Amino acid sequence: MMIRFAIVPLLLALNFSMCQKHETGSQNGQPVSASSPIPGAATSGGSPGVAPVAASPKITKPVVDQTAQTIIFCYHRLVDKIRYPGTEITPAAFEAQMKELKDRGITVISMQDLLAWKRGEKNIPPRCAVISFDDGWKSQYEVAWPIMKKYGYPFTMFIYTEGVRGGSLGGGEAITWEQLGDMRDNGVDIQAHTATHQDLREGHAITLVGAGVKRTRTRLTGPQYEQWVRNEVVGSKELLEQRLGIKVNCFAVPFGSYNEHVKELARNAGYDAMFTVYGQPITFTSPMDSLGRYAIEANKPKVFEDAVKMIGASTSGGAPVAEIGAKDLATQPADGETVRTALPLIKANLTGIGQIDPGTVQMRVSGLGVVPASYDQKTGTISYQVTQKLREKSCSVFVTAKSQGKKVEAHWTFGIEEGAGGPMKSPTPPPKK
Ligand SMILES: [Zn+2]
Repeated sequence: MMIRFAIVPLLLALNFSMCQKHETGSQNGQPVSASSPIPGAATSGGSPGVAPVAASPKITKPVVDQTAQTIIFCYHRLVDKIRYPGTEITPAAFEAQMKELKDRGITVISMQDLLAWKRGEKNIPPRCAVISFDDGWKSQYEVAWPIMKKYGYPFTMFIYTEGVRGGSLGGGEAITWEQLGDMRDNGVDIQAHTATHQDLREGHAITLVGAGVKRTRTRLTGPQYEQWVRNEVVGSKELLEQRLGIKVNCFAVPFGSYNEHVKELARNAGYDAMFTVYGQPITFTSPMDSLGRYAIEANKPKVFEDAVKMIGASTSGGAPVAEIGAKDLATQPADGETVRTALPLIKANLTGIGQIDPGTVQMRVSGLGVVPASYDQKTGTISYQVTQKLREKSCSVFVTAKSQGKKVEAHWTFGIEEGAGGPMKSPTPPPKK
């Protein structure tokens, strides 16, 4: 059995000049542009620039656990009386979930620690969670924050700037800039979620809002669209940075509605990571421009439970999960491959795992959940023909089984070419606010 356990070579980090801006918190002290992650870095042979660990003042890159997994949660409003179950949760239910993470031994880490791990700079526990709050509601300040303090959990706020109190979309329930400043001063990570919280793709129906702008429902194209989308992606980042004196490096995409053009704009603006609301466990190789978060809402209590199960945490410290490298399973599509169809045939050969209990073989596909895959005992092959178009541009597959009482898991990610009928035609999920 091959346990995936690659080791990042020790590299001497260069001395980078730190950003002059005030950092949002103690976890945010890593230079963000320092280096790109080294997924799959070779374990032998070294690489140029490798030097023995000697000079003490130099910072060395730690060896990170590439098999660790994180789930990212996204919450909206906390209210005692649920009126909009699609975006609300009661404080009691929220607190119960925070407690459950603790009880299950899932460590809550900061978003910046997650990014540092992805860059190969910092280790994280094998199973962890990141908590984020979207849109900037005052209940996040008044209700969620005290609960987070009680548990000592770090968290991230994704703010859309016109939704802050005083902005053209910031009503009575909106958070204020003063409250955000208070959070910043106490180490809360504050990140971007556009200016007006709309579908960012060219030609999609949007409402023009803003100071002195008459609200109009329209579809923008060409230079007008470019100007608008630039303000949404870049302008909102700059405003947060200027208003709060922080560095913004994360971007939560409203409704997860974006495309390659928006990604490029965001990358050029200096975002290190982009987030959607298509929940999936985050692994060391998950693409930084589409990190899926689980949106937790009152009307879907199972989402939280499923997410927690996805990273295989156990209440009793039970059988550990052994991670099998996708390469050893001759997966189809292969890890990192891009396919031209949104309806691919997904296959893996499990013979390399050894004896497995056929009744325990299961396949999960991001965006679909558990799928009715068939397992051929003779050939040791699990396969599933996707029948419902995959909507995201990347698809993660998880295959689990029990081998001699031990849970084994393999996961890999493949891409779906734009225009394959999936992402571009995806229906827009209902608005969050
Ligand atoms: Zn939102």
